[in-house]
Amino acid sequence: MSLIVQKYGGTSVADAERIRRVAARVATTRRAGNDVIVVVSAMGGTTDQLIDLARQVSPSPPGREMDMLLTAGERIAMALLAIAIHEEGVEAVSFTGSQAGILTDSSHGQAKIQEIRSFRVQESLKEGKVVIVAGFQGVDPESKDVTTLGRGGSDATAVALAAANHADVCEIYTDVDGVFTADPRIVADARKLDEVSFEEMLELAATGAKVLMLRSVEFGRNFNIPLHVRSSFHDGPGTWVKETTMEQAIISAISHDTSEAKVTVRGVPDRPGVAAALFEPLAAREVNVDMIVQNVSEDGTTDISFTVPTEHVPVAKEVTEKVIVEIEAAGVDVDEAVARVSVVGAGMKSHPGVAAKMFRVLASNGINIEMISTSSIRISCVVALDQIEEAVRVLHAAFEPPRMVGGL
Ligand code: ASP
Ligand code: MG
Repeated sequence: MSLIVQKYGGTSVADAERIRRVAARVATTRRAGNDVIVVVSAMGGTTDQLIDLARQVSPSPPGREMDMLLTAGERIAMALLAIAIHEEGVEAVSFTGSQAGILTDSSHGQAKIQEIRSFRVQESLKEGKVVIVAGFQGVDPESKDVTTLGRGGSDATAVALAAANHADVCEIYTDVDGVFTADPRIVADARKLDEVSFEEMLELAATGAKVLMLRSVEFGRNFNIPLHVRSSFHDGPGTWVKETTMEQAIISAISHDTSEAKVTVRGVPDRPGVAAALFEPLAAREVNVDMIVQNVSEDGTTDISFTVPTEHVPVAKEVTEKVIVEIEAAGVDVDEAVARVSVVGAGMKSHPGVAAKMFRVLASNGINIEMISTSSIRISCVVALDQIEEAVRVLHAAFEPPRMVGGL
């Protein structure tokens, strides 16, 4: 007998009809003799609506109360699903994150799972019940307050539960067929990947692919839980995310991200300590700094550019404006009209020339590169926001992921 964790995203449980369909699928899995843990997201749009309601009553709602509010979304979905599964003639019990023993740190809105005490889940599984757990939430054992794991956090709940309960597989049901070689809304002939490695998926999730939350991929890799990302609307296979893949494409996918802004500090004196003086206070205010580029110095000064999520721009600006006075830099500019395109593929480790080809393809399409960053299996370029879709399209056409392209 296998233990299967199934996670259903918001669109998969968006209305009563879809909840009934999910219940039928869960019941079929249970009747086939498997133990089943189901993780649900809030019904589609609920979390956004609750956030919007909170903003209407306060511009800066307290984190604790935001978490009380948002966890309600998943609680509605889990109870409705339990009711629908009962209707299928299968016993089911729903638990909040706290009841399921998901212990987190105290950081409201972006809590990290620290431990899972699964005895209640295990007890119910032994009684033959399907266990439904509300996604995206846990409890801080010190304050006893509920916490949330950040947007998309139900993926993390599912993979963490799979790890803690030694599941055989973690299925992530969603509204797309799997992980694609590029965003199919931009690239008409984007293909579904049959499989992708954890290390590639980590890069894709970190550079804009929204199909899986980054932290869930980290759990999957750390505990070696194979993830199957698949559609909740049909039975066809999706994409397997696992440790090793059969073929190693040079480029597996093109990802893009439009949610970052570029901050440039001009005329920074070129002496030891200035970068630290700039980035320490940003870190202290929890600004997520991503790509950093320091230009060549001319006449003893240099420009430093970095990217931050657009929602961090106000704080980044406030901090940087203070710092430039201290370090005697010339000024600070913020450009929100930028986006990042990335090519990702484990095969590039052993194939030189990917970066050169990427830059040539962008250049010959008149796309200017503003910043570049790389890892051993990824190359990212920051370009103008209004050219991002074209950048994704021309790179997808040039690299044809995930096919092996001989002689780059
Ligand atoms: N409902 C939460 C969100 O919308 C968590 C999730 O869907 O995974 O971000
Ligand atoms: Mg999601």
